[in-house]
Amino acid sequence: MSLKYVGKLFLNLFYPPICPLCERFVATDGMLCDSCMISLQHLEADAILPHLSVSYFDRCISCFAYEGGLRRAIHSFKYQQRLEQVRFFSAAIKSRILDLTGIDIVIPVPMHRSKLRARGYNQAALLAKRVGRDLGKDVIVNALKRIQDSAAQMGLERTERLRNVKHSFAVLKKYENVFDGKSILLVDDVVTTGATINECARVLKKSGASMVHVVTVARTLE
Ligand SMILES: [Zn+2]
Repeated sequence: MSLKYVGKLFLNLFYPPICPLCERFVATDGMLCDSCMISLQHLEADAILPHLSVSYFDRCISCFAYEGGLRRAIHSFKYQQRLEQVRFFSAAIKSRILDLTGIDIVIPVPMHRSKLRARGYNQAALLAKRVGRDLGKDVIVNALKRIQDSAAQMGLERTERLRNVKHSFAVLKKYENVFDGKSILLVDDVVTTGATINECARVLKKSGASMVHVVTVARTLE
């Protein structure tokens, strides 16, 4: 019996492995329980985002439907400091994008600084860092800046929301020449209409990026 194994057994006594989605006890660390495994809706195809009149990204890939236990898990990751969820989410992303090659830089969708101050962390940045580490790619957490607070989006009609997000992102001046000819992986937790990721992709392309692929943990199904 290896020391590592003994250590693991010891740890499991005090911190038994739990399902990352529902927190039921499970046999193996990092594994989902049976009912969460069944409830997860894997998305095999790239997103088709009908509300966008033009797409600036090359592909938009999501791991799961934004529903049920997965939706609750993302909610707790975003709003209840359940930061350890990042392990499960980034592992899912990594296995979902095995066919994506040639990525140069990983970038998160940014959060407006007033929101960042209130929440204390940007969940997309945590995801991007972990995904970048898992893929062995460079991560630039502050590549993009959110100029306009998306809180203003709440309560708006979809068409207004789509219009409202325009020009709410910018590439930070010090990174202006960094993306020239580069293939970018843009990371976020959830994609809904696609307005946010599309606007991020637009400014990255304008800054010289040759490709912008988007990957999210979940996508809303409408
Ligand atoms: Zn579960």
